[in-house]
Amino acid sequence: MLMYDVIDGKRNGQALTQEEIIYVVDGFTKGTIPDYQMSAWLMAVCINGMTPEETTWLTQAMVDSGDIVDLSGVQGIKVDKHSTGGVGDKTTLIVAPIVAACGVPVAKMSGRGLGHTGGTIDKLESIPGFQTSIPMETFIENVNSIHISVVDKIGNIAPADKKIYALRDVTATVRSLPLIASSIMSKKIASGADRIVLDVKYGSGAFMKTAADAAELASRMCEIGTLAGRKTAALVTSMDVPLGKNIGNILEVKECMQVLAGAHEGLEDLVEVSIELATYMLFLAGKGTIEACRRMAQNTLKDGSALAKWKEFVIRQGGDWSTIEGEHNPHPCAVKMDYLAVETGYIASMDVTKIGMASVELGAGRQTKDSVIDFGAGIELWQKTGAFVKKGDVIATFHAADQQKCAVAASMFGDAYTYAPLAPEMKPLIEEIII
Ligand code: URA
Repeated sequence: MLMYDVIDGKRNGQALTQEEIIYVVDGFTKGTIPDYQMSAWLMAVCINGMTPEETTWLTQAMVDSGDIVDLSGVQGIKVDKHSTGGVGDKTTLIVAPIVAACGVPVAKMSGRGLGHTGGTIDKLESIPGFQTSIPMETFIENVNSIHISVVDKIGNIAPADKKIYALRDVTATVRSLPLIASSIMSKKIASGADRIVLDVKYGSGAFMKTAADAAELASRMCEIGTLAGRKTAALVTSMDVPLGKNIGNILEVKECMQVLAGAHEGLEDLVEVSIELATYMLFLAGKGTIEACRRMAQNTLKDGSALAKWKEFVIRQGGDWSTIEGEHNPHPCAVKMDYLAVETGYIASMDVTKIGMASVELGAGRQTKDSVIDFGAGIELWQKTGAFVKKGDVIATFHAADQQKCAVAASMFGDAYTYAPLAPEMKPLIEEIII
């Protein structure tokens, strides 16, 4: 087989065979196919797409390139959750304790922030002492004893995806439905969970700009998961507005603790998405009807069991509870700066990618691979799309180490908002559920 012919076939819009896909993935991972040929192939895939069969074979080839985590030591049906990424998207920190409090094991691997989006591991590491790198035996032991553990890495998961993603990142080939679907699902399948719930985002802060594209991606991923024997459900949710009020690592941890303690006010969007994700995780784990699972999830916020589970989880992974308890903030920033509305009217739209990039400028994310995150930095959002504001009202507060960072973030942040005299039409937060 020649890589030249495989590229040529895809360029001409042909569907590839499973052998050809295995040849490409194996060859690139082992280094026998060079970057320039792989780049040409990836671009041909971006332009001509892949059939569902090709996408499934690509996923399987990437799963087979590395370890498959053996979670057989964990008792019960293991359900994983994955979000395609967003700003203020902190649902894992709420959903995982809810599901664990209902007795369903959550053995989860999570990622770090990428570009304008945050990552669960960075958020957890903002808790002093919290360990995200723990041995496999401890991970399994934690899940068996308290039903929850979250780690950054176990084994060598889908190394082919890692290598291909790095190339996609620099060749403008990230935004392709089959490439995104296979990349995400290869990691989820190799992570060993029995069931998977996906939160597929669309909107100004997401890869997929429209609900229709996100629904197509969600369907493709559900199909891949189910074919691999991992029953998968997906929620298609809006990322046209950041979730909740806070962006930035410790700010988001504190916000999640408020939700876990039963607070809803101003956090309705975050609570709604979290409850629905937990509902479908419980449903796939066989805990009852959708309605019964929703009630079960809601009850954990009312009766304090989700917050108690969170505390148990933080302490079990080495976190110093006293530093985050109550009003405590372990990373207060030297500078706080209010951002004022520049017009009177309704906030008509928010460019969530720009808002995420403004938070990176403040120090909440990485500008380069090696940047050190300022765990205290970020944005408190007081007003979001649909709110009526007067010129000069405080619509956000920035937290950063210095004024200079706030000034740079302010110019980006200002560009992200548009105002209008009439209230904008609000789209549903949860657009579709695929099961
Ligand atoms: N996240 C992934 O893991 N892969 C993609 O291709 C896009 C987002």
